[in-house]
Amino acid sequence: ILIVLPQQINYILRYAMAAGEVIVIPCLSDNYTYLVRCHRSEVTAIIDPGEAAPVIAALEERDWNLDLAINTHHHHDHIGGNAELIEKYGAKLLGPAAETARIPDMDETCAEGDQVLIGDLEGKVFDVPGHTSGHIAFYFPAITALFSGDSLFALGCGRLFEGTPEQMWHSLQKFRGLPASTQVYCGHEYTQANANFAKTIEPDNPILTARCQDIDGLRARNLPTIPSRLDVELATNPFLRADDPSVAEALGMTGESPVAIFTEIRKRKDNF
Ligand code: ZN
Ligand code: FE
Repeated sequence: ILIVLPQQINYILRYAMAAGEVIVIPCLSDNYTYLVRCHRSEVTAIIDPGEAAPVIAALEERDWNLDLAINTHHHHDHIGGNAELIEKYGAKLLGPAAETARIPDMDETCAEGDQVLIGDLEGKVFDVPGHTSGHIAFYFPAITALFSGDSLFALGCGRLFEGTPEQMWHSLQKFRGLPASTQVYCGHEYTQANANFAKTIEPDNPILTARCQDIDGLRARNLPTIPSRLDVELATNPFLRADDPSVAEALGMTGESPVAIFTEIRKRKDNF
């Protein structure tokens, strides 16, 4: 008799149905890097390898080769593993056209509207300036996955090192049209701190309150809060809700523009 546990059924179904899979790899102190594998072609990519060692371990565990490294932006905690992985696997490097001068050794660059391929998995590229001036993000419909780097975080958004609040607000708008069930894979495990901040903006949002409890439970067991679902972000992430009248009211800014409200939320978070 073969006994199949529920989580195995889940895994087997996911594996059988999806065109590819995403492996979440914690790295550095609070970064995530993501292995993306196309099942048919067995082409494998790594997104934002902040360091090489945990990526090599994940590849060796599965007996996979690495074909491609992809960067969302030039910060060291997203590109620090590039050189070693390129050297070890002969992987190609793909990154943002607007950051060519700041990311060494790119073989290919891309920008808004371009399509990238991980085997058969087609990814759509978005320009999402704000955190850095050339930051890009990738959406892969076949696996319903958005790789947002340090633009959109679970319950937060990236700090504005090279952009204005207006730019970041417009960048984040680009994700709105993606399917509700989109899985958001962001660059850092900042979710619990973001949750504590979000509660100060919308203490009476019941979906946010419930989500914060889930997050506290996951972090208490040292589990990732990633990926999150886009529809849940839209209902709870204050940085996506600057055009929601209830947020304007909570801030005493009724009638002000979404950009003005976004600017205020970002300022409060910077001082939180
Ligand atoms: Zn960054
Ligand atoms: Fe980062």
